[in-house]
Amino acid sequence: MQNQYVAEENPSQFPVKTQNMSSKRILLIEDEHSIREMVSFALGQEGYVIDEAENGSAAELQIANNLPDLILLDWMLPDTSGLELLRRWKRKDVMQEVPVIMLTARVEERDKIDGLDSGADDYITKPFSVKELTARIRAVLRRGSGSIENEVKLGPIRLDLNAHRAYVHDKSLDMGPTEFRLLEFFMTHPDRVYSRNQLLDYVWGRNMYVEERTVDVHIVRLRKLLKPLNCDQMIQTVRGYGYRFSEKQ
Ligand code: CA
Repeated sequence: MQNQYVAEENPSQFPVKTQNMSSKRILLIEDEHSIREMVSFALGQEGYVIDEAENGSAAELQIANNLPDLILLDWMLPDTSGLELLRRWKRKDVMQEVPVIMLTARVEERDKIDGLDSGADDYITKPFSVKELTARIRAVLRRGSGSIENEVKLGPIRLDLNAHRAYVHDKSLDMGPTEFRLLEFFMTHPDRVYSRNQLLDYVWGRNMYVEERTVDVHIVRLRKLLKPLNCDQMIQTVRGYGYRFSEKQ
């Protein structure tokens, strides 16, 4: 189990960040020592400053001492639930702007909705890879502060998020806004399978009524755009479930 939290061997596979984020402070709230140790080590390697808390009261103390730029919050804690902490913080002015990524072993749709409704910015299900976690952290930090990072890179693909333009091997691609958002989501959530429904939630938004088939239509368009550049195989169909975006074949 522990190995799942160890950094992957090939760091060149990480989406490249364009600006140094070394000053970003992350508060990791997690009661499982082995996970805390691994996540803390891996994020330290990425240049983040990590504060750790093993329960809710330790977390409150850490926050009082140093306001974090982002919180990784375990759902099940010994003294309270992550959800309860999240609800409490979102009522405080000073905490409202601090993005929260929930870490959880729970996979039920209901819990995901509770978390997002209570103000979580993203949701990551255990076991997760360090690569996935760091990609999510970058995406959430970028969303929160607008200009911290304006580029996402993965393999030969680069997105300029300010100009809303995509490049493969520096060749510009013409694509519609939905294809762009879909590609941005994939590039910041690599190597994990998403159902059509999950893609609708994240890319189209939960309040939109769109049929699942719409996802397939946009996937086809995106693949067509990427095909002449030999990148279409990065969008992988997982039969009976959905899609995965990966550099690995
Ligand atoms: Ca726990």
